[in-house]
Amino acid sequence: MRRNWTAPVLGAVLIIGSSASASDPQKDRLREERLIAEANKIHQDAVTLDSHVDIGGARYATAEQDPGIENPRLKCDLVKMSKGGMDGVFLAVYVGQSPALDQPGFKAAHEAAMVKFEAVHRLTGQMHPDKCRLVTSPGDVRKTVATGKRAIMIGVENGYPIGTNLSLIQKYYDLGARYITLSHSGHNQICDSSGPEQPMHGGLSEFGRKVVAEMNRVGMMIDVSHISEKSFWDVIKISKAPVIASHSGCKALSPHDRNLTDEQLTALARNGGVVQIVALGSFLKPDSPERRQALTALRQELGFQRGARQDRQAMSAEQHEQMEKIYATYQERMKEIDAKYPTADLKVFVDHIDRAVKMAGIDHIGIGTDFDGGGGIRGFNDHSEALNVTVELLRRGYTAKQIRKIWGENLMRVWREVEKARK
Ligand SMILES: [Zn+2]
Repeated sequence: MRRNWTAPVLGAVLIIGSSASASDPQKDRLREERLIAEANKIHQDAVTLDSHVDIGGARYATAEQDPGIENPRLKCDLVKMSKGGMDGVFLAVYVGQSPALDQPGFKAAHEAAMVKFEAVHRLTGQMHPDKCRLVTSPGDVRKTVATGKRAIMIGVENGYPIGTNLSLIQKYYDLGARYITLSHSGHNQICDSSGPEQPMHGGLSEFGRKVVAEMNRVGMMIDVSHISEKSFWDVIKISKAPVIASHSGCKALSPHDRNLTDEQLTALARNGGVVQIVALGSFLKPDSPERRQALTALRQELGFQRGARQDRQAMSAEQHEQMEKIYATYQERMKEIDAKYPTADLKVFVDHIDRAVKMAGIDHIGIGTDFDGGGGIRGFNDHSEALNVTVELLRRGYTAKQIRKIWGENLMRVWREVEKARK
């Protein structure tokens, strides 16, 4: 159905159901080869989507940060996607926020959002139109994939840049955005975030209710990742269309505030929505005290501050260069910390998929890695390793049809529903 596939195609050696002895290494190897061959075929046929990947600011999709080459600084680039058989990705127009919920803050955030929209448009329009395409509907995803190009979609992470101007939702839609994550890790004018313990609105604000209605009207998917549990229940109650959690895990397995409870997972299923399981280690498995200590020490040593990400927009070239050096050191040292205090791996990631399937059902699960925003685990550390997920799902007894649902069919169904529900 599409593109050049580089993975080996193995002959179908039927040994399942035979009297193969578990202790016969030759037969074990054959069984493993057959599993991988089958996974390969399923993976090729599936439309594989990732609902959440972060991008840099103005430097993304320039010669300095080219997603068209195998870029060692990126976990998601077009080459890794191709290698791993990944068909499409939602790139995040993430915007941080200033603590003040005021007009100057909103204005600056809107401008920062525009910089990221431009970066994605540059990627698909000027830089690599031969390799990828900006896609704005689920039907378009299939068409694009059939031509062998990567489908690039846009999600806005944080509703803060909307400010108090509802018409920006339509504007972002017109620029290609198909979901908005209502908040990031701080409360905003729309709703409470899962981050701070003390609520600000006690769920959705009055303005937030209008935002939900306007997103329904426009046909913009509502993303409930990052928002507080109370905000989640408010959204579920009033949204006229199914919602998504673009990158979250299961609280029953790891009590991080970014994860969803079993009740939330079942509610998401009743709502017709989808939870996209995140591949970020410290969400999937609590950090050990030793790991936490090592992380804190490293951040202190390098002078990292909470919420410093958005400040990069305003940096001079020199400051930026300095920041790049610090970041390179950070990445190197993180590798050491990861080796010494291992966090979640592929198996833990798929444990979260299992749990979500158990609570919400197979029709309500997908994948949202958070690559280049903290995501990446052993076994699924960048898009080139995406086949490993399919192999593990197959190993656990998921059928080809179920795997296709997880990799993209569920998300595309919700997207279609949201389109249908708009006025
Ligand atoms: Zn996020």
